[in-house]
Amino acid sequence: MYEKASQEKLDFIQKGIKDYSSQRNYDFGPKSRENISNLSKYISHRIINEYDLIREILSEYNLQKVDKFIQEIFWRVYWKGWLEHRPQVWRDFVDSSPTYSEEDYKKAINGETGIECFDDWVKELKTENYLHNHTRMWFASIWIFTLNLPWELGARFFMKHLFDGDAASNTLSWRWVAGIQTQGKNYLARESNIRKFTNQRYMNTSLNENALPLENPKIYSLQEVRHLQTKQKYKNLVLFETNLNVDERYSFFKNYENIFMVLLDNKNRNIKLDEKVLNFKKTLQEAFANKISNSQIIDEDTFMSLNPQFDVLYPSIGENMDFLDREFKDVDKLHFIGLKEDIYCWQFSKKGFFNFKKNIPEVINYLLHENDLFN
Ligand SMILES: Cc1cc2nc3c(=O)[nH]c(=O)nc-3n(C[C@H](O)[C@H](O)[C@H](O)COP(=O)(O)OP(=O)(O)OC[C@H]3O[C@@H](n4cnc5c(N)ncnc54)[C@H](O)[C@@H]3O)c2cc1C
Repeated sequence: MYEKASQEKLDFIQKGIKDYSSQRNYDFGPKSRENISNLSKYISHRIINEYDLIREILSEYNLQKVDKFIQEIFWRVYWKGWLEHRPQVWRDFVDSSPTYSEEDYKKAINGETGIECFDDWVKELKTENYLHNHTRMWFASIWIFTLNLPWELGARFFMKHLFDGDAASNTLSWRWVAGIQTQGKNYLARESNIRKFTNQRYMNTSLNENALPLENPKIYSLQEVRHLQTKQKYKNLVLFETNLNVDERYSFFKNYENIFMVLLDNKNRNIKLDEKVLNFKKTLQEAFANKISNSQIIDEDTFMSLNPQFDVLYPSIGENMDFLDREFKDVDKLHFIGLKEDIYCWQFSKKGFFNFKKNIPEVINYLLHENDLFN
């Protein structure tokens, strides 16, 4: 799996990245994905670490040539940092129980709405476990504003099926489309836009193109992010499937006597995942275990029987962190280790992306000169 990820990354860096900024908005269909990287399933599990990827690209190209791609990677970093500052947004999403029409919902998730493109994307999501970024935007917009379904259900549907399902990118992107992330500004899918960027595959799609943004009166106050350590304290390490980066961190992992990898099964998840997604995550963990001999996969019960004298690689806001919160009364006493790059970047994620973007030159400067990753 690591080799496959590495090869796909190299192919993209050598070929696709050159035309990325002019071609990236086109969805040419599942058989033709050369215009985008397709790396998110690896990046979201850190099989490929986003900061290493940025360093690698900038060792080959001037920033001006690849700035759009680098900026897209920073969207991931930014969303993650934003949610770290407002964990209640995730809590409210997971705990929400909106009202909706069961019949309309069933039609949507079965791809039986009669909206040709939408129905095809539902099938694609279930079979490929992936959708193009532009298509995710159209999909979410149609779900919310044409089908009148609650955004929370759409976001759960994505999490269930996407290989790259990510608490921050997914929840906040759905909120953004709905018009409650950037308050008062929604994203409306338009027939002409879909026609153009699907290369005329979908024409005459009838949509609600005049909907107003959703209203969400709740204001979330900014919180300090969890204090993360950068130095090893214990001999044992616990990590989840979202932190599987090995290549540049081999010596870090090798310093531990034991590494325990936990994969939550559906009974411990608020949002139940499709079997294919769980299997994909398992395959990634097995690949990690093949590389790092002092690591093993354990289930939740074995994990709970461990003496809590271990370091935890911080899993970020999401299901894994919810699990730790539920199981440990004093979760704050756990020794959480974070990546220095995350800690650095998240300080710029308190406001909008525009503010983050202003700091990208400074962030890049930091990334290019900070090689001492954990210690
Ligand atoms: C409604 C909606 C839900 C989404 N849910 C997820 C999700 O659960 N998990 C997820 O990883 N991404 C999510 N995204 C972001 C984005 O659509 C995917 O990261 C992207 O489509 C992945 O394909 P790629 O790797 O070929 O992307 P590329 O276009 O090749 O981009 C390269 C990398 O940049 C990052 N990236 C690109 N666009 C975005 C973006 N808009 N937001 C955050 N990061 C981005 C990803 O890490 C991606 O791998 C969502 C977007 C929308 C609109």
